[in-house]
Amino acid sequence: MDQAWLKAHVRDVLDYPKPGIVFKDITPLLGAADAFRATVDALAEPFAATRVDKVIGIEARGFVFAAPVSYGLHAGFVPVRKPGKLPWEIEREEYVLEYGTDLLEIHRDAISPGELVLVVDDVIATGGTAAATARLVERLGGDVVGFAFVLELGFLHGREQIDGYQVHTLVTYD
Ligand code: AMP
Repeated sequence: MDQAWLKAHVRDVLDYPKPGIVFKDITPLLGAADAFRATVDALAEPFAATRVDKVIGIEARGFVFAAPVSYGLHAGFVPVRKPGKLPWEIEREEYVLEYGTDLLEIHRDAISPGELVLVVDDVIATGGTAAATARLVERLGGDVVGFAFVLELGFLHGREQIDGYQVHTLVTYD
């Protein structure tokens, strides 16, 4: 995966959604057939020889990448969502975002004890979302086999929040 080529498909939007934030807009990447395919393939590639039972997508942009990754790995897809969106019984975790705090929810029956889980999202920033998702998986008895992110904001050191796990990112911004 050519980092410069992938970066060329990501648009920086200044001061969105708040002043001081540089938002990484991946919609140009999604709209470019070759870049989207290459991104999905590259996210899944390190886990191709690993047993993966479930791939988690984190609302909302994580869904877009996690769904095709789960298809490619012959795994199930599980959504982790913002509060109040899931209709069945849930587990909930609080997390700190680059711009605020929020809650994440998962269906209690989405992961069975002993299942191996890959977590996919578009961006790792502070790592709070990823760490909260790992806590949800582990509370349900699942094991996190790794994380895959398209973009890593390296200057926020989010990896430190998920120390000890396999973390795969395609592009890093220092
Ligand atoms: P964090 O918990 O700080 O690692 O934030 C990760 C989550 O917030 C991901 O679901 C991203 O989609 C979103 N996010 C955080 N910062 C940015 C950013 N600068 N550009 C785009 N998305 C972001």
